[in-house]
Amino acid sequence: MRCPFCGFDDQKVLDSRPARDGEAIRRRRECLSCERRFTTFEAPERPRLLVVKRDGSRTDFSKDKVLHSMLLAARKRPVPADVLREAVERVERSLFDSFDDEVPTSAIGQRVMQELAQIDVVAYVRFASVYQEFETLQDFIEIVEHVTATNERRLPDELNSLFPELGLETGDRSPRSGTRGTEALR
Ligand SMILES: [Zn+2]
Repeated sequence: MRCPFCGFDDQKVLDSRPARDGEAIRRRRECLSCERRFTTFEAPERPRLLVVKRDGSRTDFSKDKVLHSMLLAARKRPVPADVLREAVERVERSLFDSFDDEVPTSAIGQRVMQELAQIDVVAYVRFASVYQEFETLQDFIEIVEHVTATNERRLPDELNSLFPELGLETGDRSPRSGTRGTEALR
């Protein structure tokens, strides 16, 4: 960085010590050109991720909103809330690992779908069937509310054609052995 007095860009550090209750490091520096001294503080940036909506506007990433949308998708399904909370943690971690400052809503939707596909097929379908249409998380939540109210028991077979990369089982959730119907009752 540049010396605030002469603009020269190299200094020696005379002293480093914790500052701001350990949340930063204070360094006393001496300019190698003019030899005047100044202080710098180094602290981690507050983790922050902006969600870029399709209209280009931005809003802070919110775990609560993601959880809310997943809870709606899993409404009346045998999915414990803790399982969804853990999934939201993985989604958040993945997003913060993969994106520096901004993340498109589409990337959030894809990660949520990956999680739901592992957790509950119906919840996944509810989410996936509206995913293409949502502009904002709020829009999305409203669409999910509508879909879950009108299509409570729907489990469309077109899932695999919509999202072949996920390799989902669609239709009846029969046992993996392949026994179904009367055979399973014997
Ligand atoms: Zn200087």
